[in-house]
Amino acid sequence: MVDTIKYFLPETEMPRNWYNIVADLPEPPPQVIHPGTGEPIGPDDLAPLFPMELILQEVSSERYIDIPEPVIDIYRQWRPSPLFRARRLEKILDTPAKIYYKYEGVSPTGSHKPNTAVAQAFYNKQSGVKRIATETGAGQWGCSLAFAGAIFGISVEVYMVKVSFKQKPYRKAMMESFGASCIASPSDETEFGKSYLKNNPNSTGSLGIAISEAVEVAATNDDVKYALGSVLNHVLMHQTIVGLEALKQFEMASDYPDVIVGCTGGGSNYAGLLFPFLGEQLRGGKKIRALAVEPAACPSLTRGRYAYDFGDTGNMTPLTKMHTLGSKFVPPGFHAGGLRYHGMAPLISHLKELNLIEASAFHQNECFEAGVTFGRAEGILPAPEANHAVKGTIEEALRCKREGKSETILFNLCGHGHFDMQAYSEYFSGNLEDRDYDEQELAMALSGLPSVK
Ligand SMILES: *Cc1c(COP(=O)(O)O)cnc(C)c1O
Repeated sequence: MVDTIKYFLPETEMPRNWYNIVADLPEPPPQVIHPGTGEPIGPDDLAPLFPMELILQEVSSERYIDIPEPVIDIYRQWRPSPLFRARRLEKILDTPAKIYYKYEGVSPTGSHKPNTAVAQAFYNKQSGVKRIATETGAGQWGCSLAFAGAIFGISVEVYMVKVSFKQKPYRKAMMESFGASCIASPSDETEFGKSYLKNNPNSTGSLGIAISEAVEVAATNDDVKYALGSVLNHVLMHQTIVGLEALKQFEMASDYPDVIVGCTGGGSNYAGLLFPFLGEQLRGGKKIRALAVEPAACPSLTRGRYAYDFGDTGNMTPLTKMHTLGSKFVPPGFHAGGLRYHGMAPLISHLKELNLIEASAFHQNECFEAGVTFGRAEGILPAPEANHAVKGTIEEALRCKREGKSETILFNLCGHGHFDMQAYSEYFSGNLEDRDYDEQELAMALSGLPSVK
């Protein structure tokens, strides 16, 4: 018998709904708070920013939510995505572990982001929205929303973190190809951007700053809505298509993961893969180990505080309880731009507090080293963000080797790195710095956390 390398689900087997883990949690996540009143917010508070259908998903506790038919039709262009068994990587590592990866780089823009971009654009279109403002880090989200905007005829305006804007010029070209506009953030297009630039003319930018700019545009223009590429409950839920497919693919493989690894910036790709499996566990199924991997230079889960904080640097958003480095914290510029966020998804944070998720942090050079090892074995060069998941996976596989255990490890290969080759070049030339965040700056940012009764 020939050993299977990839597990393909037919289009007809693609899941027809998203999974909402809130339905299976042992305790509900903390409420979202209005910074002015200190009271829980209601759907109306979010109405200037999002279409109502997405707001209702944000607060839903239904276990499954139907994927609209038009979204399914677009998903079918690249979904179901393949589940691979990394047999050559296993051999190179000489590990008894079985390594699988779900590959989201097959999407039109090369990452998991279209899974929610298409859904969000659909609900905006349905409610008559013609313009959306958003932020992007490395540009994966900007490209994905630009793609979705082109499909649904919505114009998209993207504030791209300045350090990434300079590092990854082809992502801007891709956004423009789909008809979107892309502006380096901080910019002088918004009041917040202008005031930030005045005090920090050489700012590298951050996701927190770019979010403030995009939220300002949506909040001050009646005809503009806002979209976020990660962090929020509805975004994590849209990504669960990844894990729901993987559940079926593991049935095909007659296997089941012992460990599930993912990189975490805002938490959405990891939640997407993990939550359907964690849901099985919470409903009495097999126990898994969940391992989130983050950058040592922006370590919200491992070094942040679990507290109420703003989602943006300009403090325009509601307060959510999450692992945070403080909304004023600006991480040093490194190449995994999608992981440069000061906070973590409230749902991931809550699960960490419930000890259902473990976390670890690595520097960028060791992550690129892992990515190159993976690439040489499997022929796919991961995005710098995904290299964190690869690093976590290799560490687990080597542990299995030391312990002589044949565990099954699954990780999310959430994107390819074909627009990130400058980072690989710098890695090979030895010019990649393992920058650490500034301890003093972190202490300052944490001391500025809002007080919530
Ligand atoms: C955006 C992005 C991330 C970080 O966001 P999450 O919400 O944590 O998934 C990670 N990897 C890739 C490839 C991305 O595009």
